[in-house]
Amino acid sequence: MIPVKEALALIAQWTPRLKIIETDLMDGIDMVLAKDVYSPLNMPPFRQSAMDGYAIKWSNKENYKIIGESKAGDNRQFQLNEGEAVRIFTGAMVPKNADTVVIQEHVEEASERIRIKKMPAKGANIREEGEQILKGVKVLEKGSQVNEASIGLLAGLGLKQIKIFKPPEIGLMVTGNELQQLDEPLAPGKIYESNSLMLKVALKRNNFPKVKFYQAKDNAKETARLIKEALANNDVLLISGGISVGKYDFVQQALLSNGVKEIFYKVNQKPGKPLWFGTKGEKRIFALPGNPASSLICFYLYVLPELMRQKGWTPGLNTGRGKLDKSLKNNTGKSLFLVAQVAGGAVHILDEQNSANLLGFTRANALVHIPENMSRVKENETIEYLDLDYN
Ligand code: AMP
Ligand code: MG
Repeated sequence: MIPVKEALALIAQWTPRLKIIETDLMDGIDMVLAKDVYSPLNMPPFRQSAMDGYAIKWSNKENYKIIGESKAGDNRQFQLNEGEAVRIFTGAMVPKNADTVVIQEHVEEASERIRIKKMPAKGANIREEGEQILKGVKVLEKGSQVNEASIGLLAGLGLKQIKIFKPPEIGLMVTGNELQQLDEPLAPGKIYESNSLMLKVALKRNNFPKVKFYQAKDNAKETARLIKEALANNDVLLISGGISVGKYDFVQQALLSNGVKEIFYKVNQKPGKPLWFGTKGEKRIFALPGNPASSLICFYLYVLPELMRQKGWTPGLNTGRGKLDKSLKNNTGKSLFLVAQVAGGAVHILDEQNSANLLGFTRANALVHIPENMSRVKENETIEYLDLDYN
């Protein structure tokens, strides 16, 4: 059995090197850029009018003759002479020798002529070519996460493909003869299989939407065969249950017989003690305890940071600090993970702490960590928690 800190360090130490793939722009959402991106274009790509109005060569004159119209998307070349104007609209190309756009609100128009009531400064209302972004400049940094704004920016620059860190392929396996699917009345001795649903949505929320699913009975051969198949097709394998020391827990033996190297088994924590972590080449294998709350805690603590690292992003959930609203004792000698509610900086540990059910979790927005060497926390003492609120 190893301390929490050591388990975290061992997993981080075994993180495989990042792989780079090129992907369609739209598929890059929430991924992490593996290369700096440089602009292939000037933005705007030509001199644009920033307003609806009239393009002129600036002068002291009030009266101009309209010689034509330039609307967004047009490619008409105008040569303006003294005293001439081109009717122009937002986003349209400004005639080469025009230097000012007068907004339409400041103009009276009658029979192809205008009178300017209020002359703006020379150069007004024109977006110069490359004014926002010059061709060749770095627009996005390697290591930044792609969001809708970056997709918009890159599309505006005409980039259809981007290089990202390849997110890991994830396999999820549940084990247990007692597990039953949701679509039938519960048979005697059975329970509904819920861990895979919980873990799948936790993965989805953290932008790992594609997960391959496997289900094994408590049977040594079947478990070994499915683990073999899952290892062949995934970078990270999560297994729920079957990792305890009961006569019908076959996961550890099946992993070892498939050439998975054990890095650690059992962490000095409550709940979530029977966590197993191993590697096979670049593949990472987590066997999570079957009890739902334990499983979810181990997911947040150990699995999520590793998955995030593998796609080049900052590990795990955010942490926060707050003041405990009631003193607390820890005479277990273990690291405790307690579901809690945080409001206005005060941390309230919930009454329902149970590894086998998720009731407490459903009411919690934080997971408090009391380290094994902390036997007592006083009221109002500041403690750290993992923030379970996604935003
Ligand atoms: P195990 O680690 O296989 O001994 O499982 C520990 C407890 O978790 C048992 O009560 C199991 O019935 C329960 N359990 C295991 N797998 C699941 C699952 N996929 N969904 C819900 N409960 C489970
Ligand atoms: Mg089991």
